[in-house]
Amino acid sequence: MQAELIINGAQVLTMDETRPRAEAVAIAGGRIVAVGSDAEVMALAGPGTQVIDAGGRTLLPGFVESHLHLGLGGLELEQLQLGGMMGWGAVKAAFDGYAAAHPEMKGLFAQGTAYGVFGADTTRQDLDRIIADRPIALMSPDHHTVWANTMALEQSGLLHGAAMPHGHQVVMAADGTASGELREFEAFGPVVDLAGNKRMNLGIATGAEPAVPSTAAERAADKAHFRRGLAHCARHGITTAVSMDGNRYALELLAEIEAEGGLTARCIVPFHMKPDMDMGELDRASAMARDFGGEWLRSGFVKMFMDGVVDSRTAYMLQDYPGVPEHRSEPLFEPERFKDICAEVDRRGLQIAVHAIGDGAVRVTIDGYEAARVRNGPRDSRHRIEHIELIDRADVPRLAALGITASVQPSHPPGAMDFPMDTMDMVYHRERWRDAYLTRTLVEAGAPLAFASDWPVTDIDVMRSLQASQTRAPYDGCQDERVGLMDALRAYTAGGARAVHWEGLTGTLKPGLAGDLVLVDGDVEATLAADLGGLGIALTVAGGRITHRGAGFG
Ligand SMILES: [Zn+2]
Repeated sequence: MQAELIINGAQVLTMDETRPRAEAVAIAGGRIVAVGSDAEVMALAGPGTQVIDAGGRTLLPGFVESHLHLGLGGLELEQLQLGGMMGWGAVKAAFDGYAAAHPEMKGLFAQGTAYGVFGADTTRQDLDRIIADRPIALMSPDHHTVWANTMALEQSGLLHGAAMPHGHQVVMAADGTASGELREFEAFGPVVDLAGNKRMNLGIATGAEPAVPSTAAERAADKAHFRRGLAHCARHGITTAVSMDGNRYALELLAEIEAEGGLTARCIVPFHMKPDMDMGELDRASAMARDFGGEWLRSGFVKMFMDGVVDSRTAYMLQDYPGVPEHRSEPLFEPERFKDICAEVDRRGLQIAVHAIGDGAVRVTIDGYEAARVRNGPRDSRHRIEHIELIDRADVPRLAALGITASVQPSHPPGAMDFPMDTMDMVYHRERWRDAYLTRTLVEAGAPLAFASDWPVTDIDVMRSLQASQTRAPYDGCQDERVGLMDALRAYTAGGARAVHWEGLTGTLKPGLAGDLVLVDGDVEATLAADLGGLGIALTVAGGRITHRGAGFG
């Protein structure tokens, strides 16, 4: 057999326990055909073989991004970025420039707006002083709060308040009008729609399908967002993307992109189950799993939100928030009904992924998975919990015993990467810091681990995230929650593949598996932990096809 592509001269970390290290990898027909020494693998070279000398760089299985929002991330790449910006003057200047550059936009949207960007609570009057004659809205970094100016509130029918489903809120000011702060997806959905992105937001907001079929032009515009997201993934070495919001529409767009030859990462898209849906709507989840089950695009899991986020204090806690007596928020699903839903999803053979941030939400979610196991009997279900920002110690062994994947983000702990430390004092009692953002503790208890960015919530950059996983300091006197470098790399490769039942396809470099690889632009093991984030991606290969080549490499 002749190889089509060989990468040699590499420090290959295979993530395959039977052969953890090698020098070269050969690919033919989209699959890995050999992993071994340079001499062994070069025996498969022929006149038609493309040989790439890695020059001692680290070669890994292509990264598996276990939790991102592919279409929304792609869409946001075009919006105003306020990440790291503080103060009214800076935001005003940024908006003025953006508004002038985009006279065609119906609404002006900004991302990455810090809670307290103007010091005190952000109000619609603050935003009116920035721009009053066009609708503007600012999204928080966690994507769970939006602040809107008066025109945006007026045009979306929210200025005088609106009835919202449980957990979603149009915050009202003392004068009986909306303050400008909108908490959670359904509250800010109407404002987001002003920017003309209603179809793109359905997957995360309601899980519904577009009410009217999109026109060819609308589909092309929506596909462009996914394509931009896919290109962003390829640049960062990602060959598998688990997009954590979804509907059939997203799958259809991605299937069209696949048919056009543009699917540069394997994509997995869930059915999004909302608390107000009837159990019968799970038929749609089963249909999505049946109709999309390929090696490049599939469904097969159900996503749910059990709570909100800590900064807006919508995460459901087992005790009251510090300084806010009587407030611990609430689970978005009634716990007994949630058990029924879990049992039904599990009975259908589908996987479950639940966003659970507070320790109360984590407990209700574990209770649901446990109920499914009791009612249906054990199976290789691999249900997972997304985020787990606070957990009660009593639940750690339960998580492990049920084999629940801890799908966590090294970039999320305050102080670890881009999120500020003041969140810790604001939302966690000091004596609970030891239970916040656990990673190593969960792994040592035996829980499978998958890493992700939750892009666009944080930077998608895998190398920066790896750096955060290796350099994160323990919270004030608490235990060290770093995992070893190999465990971190595994959580971004084989661990992520296992978490979606794809260990037989990707996440490991061994013959027979897909030709999904990433060549990091340096020697990962020889690089100081504090410098890992500076390493670029030299080459990304998905299914044997080069999807990214770094500037200055080859
Ligand atoms: Zn997410």
